[in-house]
Amino acid sequence: MNQYQVILDQIYKDIQPHLNKGKVADYIPELADVPVAQFAMALVDLQGNVFSCGAAGQRFSLQSISKVFTLTLALKGLGQQLWHRVGREPSGSAFNSLVHLEYEKGKPRNPFINAGALVVTDVVLDLLPSAQAPVLELLRSLSGNAALGINQAVASSEESHGFRNASLANFLKSFGRLSHPVDTVLSAYYQDCAIEINAIELAKTGYFLANQGVPFGAQGPFISANRAKYINSLMLTCGTYDSVGDFAYRVGLPGKSGVGGGILAVMPGEFSVCVWSPGLDQSGNSLAGTQALEWLTTRTGISIF
Ligand code: GLU
Repeated sequence: MNQYQVILDQIYKDIQPHLNKGKVADYIPELADVPVAQFAMALVDLQGNVFSCGAAGQRFSLQSISKVFTLTLALKGLGQQLWHRVGREPSGSAFNSLVHLEYEKGKPRNPFINAGALVVTDVVLDLLPSAQAPVLELLRSLSGNAALGINQAVASSEESHGFRNASLANFLKSFGRLSHPVDTVLSAYYQDCAIEINAIELAKTGYFLANQGVPFGAQGPFISANRAKYINSLMLTCGTYDSVGDFAYRVGLPGKSGVGGGILAVMPGEFSVCVWSPGLDQSGNSLAGTQALEWLTTRTGISIF
């Protein structure tokens, strides 16, 4: 059996005692009821082989991992101009924090905090004016699954409880940082966060980041190898909330997490991997997911460092 499958099977056994430890995200009421003791992991190597363990066919809420794909679309469409609108530095504060925005005149620190993702969504709405959920089509094509969809109950649950996101968007608008109406940007952002995907589909979707911009099953690049490098660098420095340092130390891979419990991580030149377990640690990263990724890089001896 392939070494990756042996390691995934072992991780699945070892992770069991950790599955009840985290706490599901309950600030989005619709996510509060997701049973915590669930786990899935899927790895796609650059030869296109898929390895998995646990509930790898079970779809979950993509949440902030969508920000990787919003950024991909914006960077593809706008190139380096994008960096006039949003920065590239870790924020060191919570993903939904307002604190830096006032000092920094509404320019968000990076594309992966909520303020940054709202600005990047605004950019993408310029590029795809009629899109309701700008990243959905991209995910369908990158994963090779046209059936991917949106959980509208999750989107409207967020819409009616997203007071912080609404304040961030209004604040950005007051600084002239959004060209579309606040509600249009928020709605597109919530739709993208509420996309449902499983671990195998997400590992395939992220494959282009491990493969110099060339998607799973494709002949040519979707974005240049250099832009894939930029996105990976941002995932490493800004992708896992305000515990990016700890994640880089333990896992040693660029990764992006979401409050649905998913983490997408890539080892450029080797593999794309997705792990999902809904129990979160204090920073909002999947607790068992981070542990599983740490074991993966430790046991394979493969990380970017
Ligand atoms: N939709 C969530 C929010 O805006 C995404 C948060 C996350 O996954 O980090 O609060």
